This record gives sequence, structure tokens and C-alpha cells, in this order.
Amino acid sequence: SAKEDGPNKFRFFTEAMNVEILERLTLENGLRLALDRDELFLVYQPQVNISTGTITGLEALLRWQHPQLGLVPPSTFIEVAENSGSIVPIGEWVLRTACAQAKKWQDAGLLAVPIAVNVSAVQFRQQGFRELIREVLHDTGLDPQYLELELTESLLLTNADVMFSILQDLREMGVKLAIDDFGTGYSSLGYLRQFQVNRLKIDRSFVRDVAVNPDDAAITTAIIRMAKALNLEVLAEGVENEAQLSFLRAQHCYVIQGYYFSKPVAVDQVVEKLRAVSIKPASSTA
Ligand code: C2E
Ligand code: MG
Ligand code: MG
Ligand code: MG
Repeated sequence: SAKEDGPNKFRFFTEAMNVEILERLTLENGLRLALDRDELFLVYQPQVNISTGTITGLEALLRWQHPQLGLVPPSTFIEVAENSGSIVPIGEWVLRTACAQAKKWQDAGLLAVPIAVNVSAVQFRQQGFRELIREVLHDTGLDPQYLELELTESLLLTNADVMFSILQDLREMGVKLAIDDFGTGYSSLGYLRQFQVNRLKIDRSFVRDVAVNPDDAAITTAIIRMAKALNLEVLAEGVENEAQLSFLRAQHCYVIQGYYFSKPVAVDQVVEKLRAVSIKPASSTA
């Protein structure tokens, strides 16, 4: 009966809540120490142009190796880091590490493609974000054109005037800008033009079933056309198979990122991996 279930349910509920709170606190505290304890590292995923058969960029993706929890995925800890503020020092570390690594590869003559870095809205809205970017580029010696910042639509929409001025300064610095997870937010065409980003990254959720789901196909095609019309580069995220690839190719979306070519790989595997990636140019399949 309800009378008997009530207290039990309540107890169960609070226990579940306690576990959740405990987990969050564990993550929060862990994140505060993660940098000092050297638990964070970056992996890199190639971006591939299937028309020219070349690697056109690398996205840096954050990983956290926790001593007890093991490898914690970004989907679990990024939001916690944003809410607790840890994302600010962590984001700075990501920027410095990725830029320094890109410069190292360039200097060794191994690889000269832009490095894409995800920027959290919390980090972007910090006073002095522009100065931080300038400082990181200066300290690492990386040419600004080799840094691409990945931003989200929601970031651009709040405080649009302020965002616009920051983006403009970044563009003047020569840094590239991409909108990540495109299609999941609310950008209007007007914003896209005004913000002068370089590229749209079509969200993985549309690409997943693009070859079998007419709605996803329609959305993906519309994004590709819109990007072309606005003179923006377009990249498809999360490409895993031939069917997706040939759909994108048919729609003239030539830059892709996904497990089909490569999962994100550890820093010391990047160069070797890039050599091994075999890319069939579009013409070879005609
Ligand atoms: P994202 O920026 O959209 O990154 C792409 C995500 O999709 C990565 O997950 C990548 O491993 C995954 N992915 C790539 N290709 C495929 C594929 O073919 N199939 C599938 N199933 N997945 C694929 P990851 O590394 O777990 O990162 C998740 C999200 O966490 C990122 O999404 C990004 O929003 C955030 N993130 C990662 N690193 C950072 C960082 O350094 N700073 C911030 N602020 N956010 C980060
Ligand atoms: Mg990204
Ligand atoms: Mg993202
Ligand atoms: Mg994405």
C-alpha cells in the first residue's frame, strides 16, 4: 500500500540522491586536483578531406584518468567542471597543451594542420579570454591560423553583442572559428553571417542515420547547402561507415571526422596514425 511504500520509496530516493551528490562531489574535488596530479591528457582525432585525400586538421579531445574511477569520459566531467569553475584552469591547460603540441609537430616537419580546441561557454565568457588566446599563441609560438576554436551555438546567442566583439577580435588575430554540434542549437542565418565563423560542424546525431532516415538526410543536406550559400566550410562529425560517407560525398560535404577514418588517438600515435590512414579521393570511386 501507499502507506507502506511511502517511507521506503522516500528512503530509496534519498539514498539515490546521496549517491548522486557524492559522485558529483568526488568528481568536483577530483577535477580540482586533476591538473596538479597530472591526470589529464589530450587525444587527437583527424579531420579528413575525402576529395583531396588529405588530413586537414586535428581535434584535441580531453581525457581524465582518475586513480580510482578509471578513465572518466568528458560527457561525465565537462559539465561538472563548468559548474564548479574548474573548466577555466583546465580549459587553459587544454589550449596551451594543444597549441604547444601542434607547434612541436610543425617544427619537426611532421604535420602542419590546424589544431581544433573545444572552448566551454564558461571559459569563453571569462574576462580576458582574448588576452589568454593571444598569450597562448605567443608563448607557444603557434601561428594563429593553426588554431581553430570550437564554440557552441548557445554560447553565441547569449549576450550576442559582447560575443560578437570577442569573435571579431579573435578573427582579427587570425584564429579560426567553428561552430560545434551544429544543428542542435538555435542559430539563425543572420547570426551565422554576423559572427563570421569559418566553419560549421554538423552534429553527430544527424550524421548517424543520415543514410537511412529521411529527416536526418534533409537536415544534413540543408546544413550543407546553407554553409555553401554563406561561404562557410562544413564538416560532418561522427562518420562511421561507407553509407554515411557516400551520402555526404554526394551532397558535396568533403570534410569529415569520425571512427570511419580514425578514433581519437594518443599523442605519440598521431604521426604514425596519419601515415596509416588511407584516404580514397572522390575521383577514385567514380
Ligand atoms: P565534440 O567536441 O563534438 O567532440 C566529438 C566527440 O565525438 C568526441 O567525444 C569524439 O570522440 C566523438 N566521436 C568522433 N567520431 C565519432 C564517431 O564516428 N562515432 C562516435 N560514436 N563518436 C565519435 P569525446 O572525446 O567523448 O568528447 C565529448 C564532448 O566533450 C566533445 O564533443 C566536447 O563537447 C567535450 N569536450 C571534449 N574535450 C573537451 C575540452 O578540451 N574542452 C571542452 N570544453 N569540452 C571538451
Ligand atoms: Mg568539438
Ligand atoms: Mg561539443
Ligand atoms: Mg561535436
